[in-house]
Amino acid sequence: EFLTGGRPPNPFGPGTLTRVYAVASGKGGVGKSTVTANLATALADRGLSVGLVDADIHGFSIPGLLGTTARPTRVDEMILPPVAHGVKVISIGMFLDNDRPVAWRGPMLHRALEQFVTDVYWGDLDVLLVDLPPGTGDIAISAAQLLTTSELLIVTTPQQAAAQVAARAGELSEQTGQQVAGVVENMAAMTLPDGSLLDLFGSGGGQTVSDRLTETLGREVPLLGSVPLDPQLRQDGDGGTPVVLEHPRSPAGAELRRVAESL
Ligand code: ADP
Repeated sequence: EFLTGGRPPNPFGPGTLTRVYAVASGKGGVGKSTVTANLATALADRGLSVGLVDADIHGFSIPGLLGTTARPTRVDEMILPPVAHGVKVISIGMFLDNDRPVAWRGPMLHRALEQFVTDVYWGDLDVLLVDLPPGTGDIAISAAQLLTTSELLIVTTPQQAAAQVAARAGELSEQTGQQVAGVVENMAAMTLPDGSLLDLFGSGGGQTVSDRLTETLGREVPLLGSVPLDPQLRQDGDGGTPVVLEHPRSPAGAELRRVAESL
């Protein structure tokens, strides 16, 4: 029933005062949603007014990461987004019964995203984060068209093969006209209790993506941070309590807070 209604104006069109970041990755499973949820809560914790659109329609995981089972409420023609850890959040998962899979194709995906942007009562946001699906498909392009001022944040692991795919996701910006705000490396080496480093996914992927995008796009694309593998981050994500709030001094929590500061 939320698929009905008119055509309210897009609050994030040209001239918007909200900074909009679309978080992208080349591949799935690199921690894009985890990074997005933590950046959003860290920014809200700093006192900013923050919204989060879960645009990973097929693979949505934001409600779980933010520990909310709330349903959006409807007021007149608008949808009021649930607030989790100070973040206004909307996800297709909030509209589904029994966690059913979403078998939607291009036009429906575009329509859902459009409604998340224009039919949700966001109020005045300082920052809007969009958790894109992995890759360079329909939604990434729709998001760029709807959110004309959005800048991309690229999440990659340190692995070189992953970095090449992530760089391609960043290079989509050449076609969409978006800026790339920076690269976040995730799942970097962790320090073991004996002081040695475990680099499960190798090293250097974040720098590789930063260098390649800086070269192909002809403007500086900084590496904003390198978040280590950290069981605490995984555990807090599973519990719906973002590590930046629950364990801000853990290795991953501290680095994610630092990245949020740089935005
Ligand atoms: P994506 O959105 O890229 O598919 P997710 O954010 O869902 O990836 O993360 C995939 C899995 O990896 C999750 O189980 C998450 O808890 C875990 N994870 C992500 N980043 C880290 C990290 N730095 N250390 C440990 N586990 C992580």
